[in-house]
Amino acid sequence: MKNLKKQDPQIHKAIIGELKRQQEGMELIASENYVSEAVLEALGSVFTNKYSEGYPGQRYYGGQEYTDVVEKIAIDRAKKIFGAQHVNVQPHSGAPANIICYFALLKPGDTVLGMDLSHGGHLTHGHPVTLPAKIYNFVRYKTKADGKIDYKELEEIAVKHKPKLILAGFSAYTRQLDYKKFRAIGKKVGAITMFDIAHIAGLIAGKALPNPVPYFDVVTTTTHKTLRGPRGGMIMCKKKYAQAIDKATFPGFQGGPHENNVAAKAVAFGEALKPSFRLYAKQIIKNAKVLEKELTKHGFKLMFGGTDNHMVLVDVFGSKGVTGKEAEVALDKVGITLNKNMIPDDSRNPMDPSGIRIGVPAVTTRGMKEKEIVKIAKWIKDTIENHRNNKKLKEIKKEVIALCKRFPIYKNL
Ligand SMILES: *Cc1c(COP(=O)(O)O)cnc(C)c1O
Repeated sequence: MKNLKKQDPQIHKAIIGELKRQQEGMELIASENYVSEAVLEALGSVFTNKYSEGYPGQRYYGGQEYTDVVEKIAIDRAKKIFGAQHVNVQPHSGAPANIICYFALLKPGDTVLGMDLSHGGHLTHGHPVTLPAKIYNFVRYKTKADGKIDYKELEEIAVKHKPKLILAGFSAYTRQLDYKKFRAIGKKVGAITMFDIAHIAGLIAGKALPNPVPYFDVVTTTTHKTLRGPRGGMIMCKKKYAQAIDKATFPGFQGGPHENNVAAKAVAFGEALKPSFRLYAKQIIKNAKVLEKELTKHGFKLMFGGTDNHMVLVDVFGSKGVTGKEAEVALDKVGITLNKNMIPDDSRNPMDPSGIRIGVPAVTTRGMKEKEIVKIAKWIKDTIENHRNNKKLKEIKKEVIALCKRFPIYKNL
């Protein structure tokens, strides 16, 4: 970054600081990851200068010979990974991708049936503060005490409310969904089915979880979580909905696509097609299972009874009398980054909930395996149990940094 260093030392310094933070810290935020240097290079490329409103072969501006190349490659690779009939790689991120789908498939006032937010659903699935909640009528299904979804109850709610759209997908739910049941319920009530796989896309791409794309009418995702690409969104759908989705993306909701970002998505999808990505996805699940086992051993209560994916949701308040916020702050002090999170039907408030969410995709990218996860679980326990003991926290921090140094990232930056 020699130009940046010379021209704008303030921003350069902040970037170097962030790089060091990422290198030295233990990243356990379930939605974060480290992209490859190749993805960073595509993201920082001259494609950022180019306007390319429209789609490959049908653009509103000239000079598209190379934007068309990268966007077509991105689409083809996504189709190959997920077996999708139609792909739109232009959504700027996960939230826009979801809003675009609502806009494409619904009329104002239509009913959407989605997962309760405190049971793992995402803000964009109809939280009252969001735009979609002002436009559409969201109704909810929940998980049962054992963490499973009661599909009979889901069906009853669907029959009662006659939703136009049934939503699957989550940011803090840890169990495998029954794709066929969603499809059957959608069919029974005449609803379109949509699955937001933002969190688990990489696990699906790496064949560590079954692929839902054949079962749902529409599938949205982010590209920057387990899929390990640039920040961005993507929509996959059946041919039947292709035109509506493309029109709702542009000109319906967005302007020009970010082709530097599309190029970086193509690079990440290329990585996801390699055999090494399958090993990565498999290792994520192995690591999450070890985390589940160790935390349970240390006396933590895991919501939904454990995990089938890359994360766990822990009731730290119920387990140790420490709130989610207190746990997050204490763990930050030892260099372990994660987030406080609501647990199902949380009696505490969202700013200081009962839970924390812990995910392993980023540490798995660094090469950490079962042995390291055992250590991490112990540090989490010791930090939470000693959250007011600054001397102890300092000792743990030294150990955390030492382990991270043994698993370097971005050696060539
Ligand atoms: C992260 C996430 C999103 C939003 O993605 P952004 O890129 O932050 O807009 C949408 N849905 C789910 C389920 C998510 O986990």
